[in-house]
Amino acid sequence: MTKNLQNLYRQVLLDHSKHPHHFGELTEQTDSVQLLNPTCGDVIKVSIMIENEVIEDIAFEGTGCTISKASSSIMTDLVKGRTVAEAKELSQSFSKMITTDELPDPALLGDAATLVGIKEFPARIKCATLSWKALDKLIAEVNND
Ligand code: ZN
Repeated sequence: MTKNLQNLYRQVLLDHSKHPHHFGELTEQTDSVQLLNPTCGDVIKVSIMIENEVIEDIAFEGTGCTISKASSSIMTDLVKGRTVAEAKELSQSFSKMITTDELPDPALLGDAATLVGIKEFPARIKCATLSWKALDKLIAEVNND
């Protein structure tokens, strides 16, 4: 990765971390889950509103490092308004990007593609995946029929 691209990615992550999108707890929600990343101390609670298998609204709150907050902000941006099936696909693509050498499709993953470099820092992978794991839990039991 070029230095310029690295700097751009860092800036995107800092912006999301300083001014997180969808921060707070939904007053009207169908479910919520709180996850802890003990290695870093990140605590993220994600609340969700699902209607007719569409994620009508999603929000997160908690305390965490720059990476966990930025990743949560990006995740909520990406999946809000999507169907549960689309959100599952996004989560799988994100996980693939973090755990394999496959390059992300920025058209699909948007700002989440800026986290591609995280796999070079294994200790931080859990920070980046925490909110996605919360999402997985929240949508795992939603029926697709
Ligand atoms: Zn962290």
